Amino acid sequence: MPELPEVETVRRGLAPAMEGAVIAKLELNRPDLRFPLPENFAEAVRERRIVSLGRRAKYLLIDLEDDLTVISHLGMSGSFRIEDETPGAFHHPRSKDGRHDHVVFHLAREKGPLKVIYNDPRRFGFMHLWKRSELDLYPAFAELGPEPTGNALDAGYLAGRFSGKNQPLKGALLDQTVVAGLGNIYVCEALWRSHLSPKRAAGSIVTKTGKPKKELALLNDAIRDVIADAIAAGGSSLRDHIRTDGSLGYFQHSFSVYDREGEACRTPGCGGTVARITQAGRSTFYCPTCQK
Ligand SMILES: [Zn+2]
Repeated sequence: MPELPEVETVRRGLAPAMEGAVIAKLELNRPDLRFPLPENFAEAVRERRIVSLGRRAKYLLIDLEDDLTVISHLGMSGSFRIEDETPGAFHHPRSKDGRHDHVVFHLAREKGPLKVIYNDPRRFGFMHLWKRSELDLYPAFAELGPEPTGNALDAGYLAGRFSGKNQPLKGALLDQTVVAGLGNIYVCEALWRSHLSPKRAAGSIVTKTGKPKKELALLNDAIRDVIADAIAAGGSSLRDHIRTDGSLGYFQHSFSVYDREGEACRTPGCGGTVARITQAGRSTFYCPTCQK
């Protein structure tokens, strides 16, 4: 399942192909994904220029002229790939099953036509059409907290959210109203990097006067760093993927603690073993020796 860094990687991969292009035709090969596709979707976007590609949490935003945005969520198995339509262009070998090519953007560009294809075997992904000026009213965005890549997330903000909370840090960080787009993997990684136990009460890293303790400052840095590192790693694997088959799917990152149950902790000098526990129905991976 793609988390924020994977969606950001997809955005960065698609931007050079899509930004500035005109949607000559939108091909819809079925009426729905997880939800029905927008009413009159093809007509609504036809002949419109793509102004920019954005992202909010785990949602890709395709901004069109005339205040329209295509909101795209990749679900469990959604991916995009780019096919060059220029006569004589090198054709990437087909790596995906064409039966799952559900939405095809036929793009007219100065540099030559392209197809951007959305493929989704399990169809948990979805697309909505929304007014860009009213994106804050999109239900999934209404309550979202700040992005972990933006300036609004800092230790002072987190202190305000965590103050007096008995909820374990793991759950407090998964709350999308606290930080947008932070998922299970990167919460585990950020807690490991900052040597904080996922079971520790969120309020325990805030002073009595509501200021961030040193641990919370470290946690804030760790959140920003794990996301930035994963986006950077996605960028390097992206270059390889575009070279091989034009697909912008998910990349297997290597994690420091996530999915490493029973293996040696990678904190220098720790000597502990990574454990797995279940919190609120989700697997948590952490090192009981160095995460306090
Ligand atoms: Zn350890």
